[in-house]
Amino acid sequence: MLTQQPDIPASALAQTWDMGRTGRAAEALVAVRQLHERARADDDTPSTAECLTQIAWFCLQLGHAEQGIDCAIAARDLWAKLGNTSGQAHASAIYAWLLVELGLADEGFAEASTAVGLAELSDDRHVLAFAINVKAVTLMYCRQDQLVGPLLERALTLVEDDPWAQALYVTNLAFSQVSVAEAAELEGRPEEGRHWRGLAIASNDRAIATAESSGDTWALRTALCNGAEYYALIGQIDVAENYLIRWLDTPGEVGLREQIHYLYTRGELLTRTGRLHEALELCEQAVELAAASAHADHKANTLRRLSEVHEALGHAEEALALYKQFHDAYQRQMGEMIRRRAQLVEMQLETRKLRAQAAVLEEQAGRDPLTGLPNRRSLDAAFLQLQGGRFCLAIADLDHFKAINDQYSHVVGDSVLQRVADVLDGLGQQMRAFRLGGEEFALLFPGLDIGAATAVAEAVRSELERTDWTDLGARLRVTASIGVAASKGGPLTELMTVADRRLYRAKASGRNLVVSADLVEAVSLSA
Ligand code: GH3
Ligand code: MG
Ligand code: MG
Repeated sequence: MLTQQPDIPASALAQTWDMGRTGRAAEALVAVRQLHERARADDDTPSTAECLTQIAWFCLQLGHAEQGIDCAIAARDLWAKLGNTSGQAHASAIYAWLLVELGLADEGFAEASTAVGLAELSDDRHVLAFAINVKAVTLMYCRQDQLVGPLLERALTLVEDDPWAQALYVTNLAFSQVSVAEAAELEGRPEEGRHWRGLAIASNDRAIATAESSGDTWALRTALCNGAEYYALIGQIDVAENYLIRWLDTPGEVGLREQIHYLYTRGELLTRTGRLHEALELCEQAVELAAASAHADHKANTLRRLSEVHEALGHAEEALALYKQFHDAYQRQMGEMIRRRAQLVEMQLETRKLRAQAAVLEEQAGRDPLTGLPNRRSLDAAFLQLQGGRFCLAIADLDHFKAINDQYSHVVGDSVLQRVADVLDGLGQQMRAFRLGGEEFALLFPGLDIGAATAVAEAVRSELERTDWTDLGARLRVTASIGVAASKGGPLTELMTVADRRLYRAKASGRNLVVSADLVEAVSLSA
């Protein structure tokens, strides 16, 4: 993440970053604020951008989302000015996460998607993993839990050498698995619910072990508190109690966000074991702390829990009064959200500009941002290199893709395109795949004659048909129609026209087919 700093040594910024990574976010925040003052006074833009990025992240960890937002936006814009795509992606991802913390899930999702796009361009796999992780977090808040797992798995494969990142992503994975369990239970499938709760607990335990090994006490406390909640929900109160004891034994300073989390989790355990007076005290403390935090859910959540304790104690009047407060808080939160939305319109203009800029960069890089495949521009270049030799070209078009978007959402549509790209990449020994646009792909077969190319195209067709898509959507199936043509030495457009004509015939003949001859040719051949 660090660039050359003329004035502030890189080691100073690496040190504050490490401090944050080992659970000392409050200390790190103080130190990096001082560095920020210096960097600004010295007109040292790269260091200023790095300082602002770190401040935004530490604010998020400590539960000061509102303070973090301004810094994240400023950092993102500075990195953009410097042409540092990886820094821009990192700041944009932190910004997206802060938006979600403030209850703006849709805006967070849009920003996280931009962050992933930028990170793909930057070739920085750590930032890419972080951005993907944030996109997953925003999807959890948008209640798209089935999409979260695959994203986090992808993020995890990118950071196998980084326990700090792993602990964070696995904690989120566990959280999403609990959400899937809850949804299954609500929909009357208790078996499935139990299965996902088991997975969640296993993931969370993995997060605890990783956080412990990396020395990240912030991640460790988060995972311990979550673990206590998960075990309490399956009735294993002893284990849950144990986790909270470990939470208390974990060294390091505790941020506001963590403190509130601990208090209401402990309050919940005490309520479940009938120690209502102790629970009351903790929930009251949690409400007080939450009043000082901008976190959208905290205020309402803590009031609700306090009200539940009062109800269990038979304090009907207090419970009622708190329910009213809970509703007030909820409504105020909505009002706040409208105010924040208005502020965001301005920022979104900025985001749109960034996206346009990203699209230009991608085009220049010859790559398609969604799938990572080379684009049409790259096909032109590859074609020129093959000119004169023997080769074939195929055009593959997904069948009834519009219906997939309509039935399962655009987000699923995008995931389908990404997985199609993975399948094409996986079959890449004898061919190269390009995304032409939309749901159309070009396949180039260097050195192959039409018979050999058709066989590979057929393998592509059948692999797509056999691929399991059901984790993206229940009963989802994806097939493609493919037209293949052999180069006759003419221009690319001519070759594409022939392939397109055959593709059209594959569609007309029922789809999920490979066609490599024209009707006239086919007739004359069989005659
Ligand atoms: P056919 O079998 O005849 O090819 O039908 P189809 O529905 O696949 O074809 P059509 O050309 O009618 O629809 C293509 C759709 O692809 C329409 C467009 O909204 C969608 N699409 C194009 N690009 C993207 C993208 O990047 N993401 C998503 N999710 N959808 C896209
Ligand atoms: Mg099409
Ligand atoms: Mg299509």
